[in-house]
Amino acid sequence: MKHYTIAVVHGDGIGPEVCRAAVRVVEAALGTASPLVFREYDAGAQHYLETGESFPEASFEGCREADAILHGAGGLPGVVHPDGTEAGLDFTLRLRFELDLFANIRPIRLYDGVRSPLRDVKAGDIDYVILRENSEGLYAARGGGALLRGEVAIDPLVQTRHGVERIVRKAFELARQSEGAPRDGVRRVTCCDKANVLRSYAFFRSIFDRVAKDYPDIETEHALIDAMAMHLVMRPSHYNVIVTENMFGDILSDLAAATVGGMGMAPSAEVGAHNGFFQAAHGSAPDIAGKGIANPYGTVLSAASMLDWLGHGHSDERLTDAARRIRAAVETCIRDGLLSADIGGSAGTERITAALCEAVAGVS
Ligand code: ATP
Ligand code: MG
Repeated sequence: MKHYTIAVVHGDGIGPEVCRAAVRVVEAALGTASPLVFREYDAGAQHYLETGESFPEASFEGCREADAILHGAGGLPGVVHPDGTEAGLDFTLRLRFELDLFANIRPIRLYDGVRSPLRDVKAGDIDYVILRENSEGLYAARGGGALLRGEVAIDPLVQTRHGVERIVRKAFELARQSEGAPRDGVRRVTCCDKANVLRSYAFFRSIFDRVAKDYPDIETEHALIDAMAMHLVMRPSHYNVIVTENMFGDILSDLAAATVGGMGMAPSAEVGAHNGFFQAAHGSAPDIAGKGIANPYGTVLSAASMLDWLGHGHSDERLTDAARRIRAAVETCIRDGLLSADIGGSAGTERITAALCEAVAGVS
């Protein structure tokens, strides 16, 4: 029987709390015959404080060789390397760039029982995916920008044909697999850019238009980033899959998370041709670390995405089935009012986790 190794990195702040919760829920969903083998590795700002190393080589190798990587959250305020870079951030960035995790998939879904700050929206109205290009764009040349004479700073925005083409294809494939519900029965991919002002985005759009011809079953449209920020507030139910450049995706996904209850509800998956890296979209929230009140739903949903990704990749229904049951359990628990403080409730991490474990076992 096939086994899968999962590299687990707890990280900093609330990272260990939400990561342990997710592992427990995954194990409850898979039961005693679980094909997953979890291996824990150290990385992050706390590890840097203790050892002088934020991402040991052995941890990197463990992550690279694993079938998937599950992370809590990384980084602590003020903990920086001598060159000023954040000690918790190099973990994520090194994985992204060295494992070429070019697709950052961020599902945005409003659950029944969570109050959205938007008026007149109900569960099901908000259910789409932001697909953020994760390897180039404005963040491609990190460190490659220039500061001239201490007077002029320049950061190049890089779009390669290869990079744009693969993220756009991924968007159409996600739409076909219906990650993000089809809206009004329509599968739709929205290309979000700033093609009217910058040629790099016009290039992005021209590649999108050409690739779209290979997917005649999927409706396409363009949106400018500024209008998009408004649309995600005014008519979120229109969207199915949104594909966009790195920085735009970074910003839009925080805005989108706010519409469905905040960062605690936002899962994320970063995938490349061979590796997958799963963590909630939020940071390490040091203000609430150790209090037992962190919202575990984002990390639990990220772990469900991990099972889906592994299950689809290996045609293993045990995993896709467990993912489906975890999502159903999240739906049930939230509907039953098991809400953490950030989404307006008073349930602690432990109580939510225990309820999720019970619910996944009960769902058929
Ligand atoms: P990063 O720079 O890593 O993105 P950030 O500074 O944007 O981090 P986060 O750690 O993402 O900040 O979170 C901001 C605030 O949102 C936290 O301080 C915390 O109060 C709240 N928050 C984030 N995640 C959660 C969670 N899982 N449960 C409860 N509250 C959370
Ligand atoms: Mg942030």
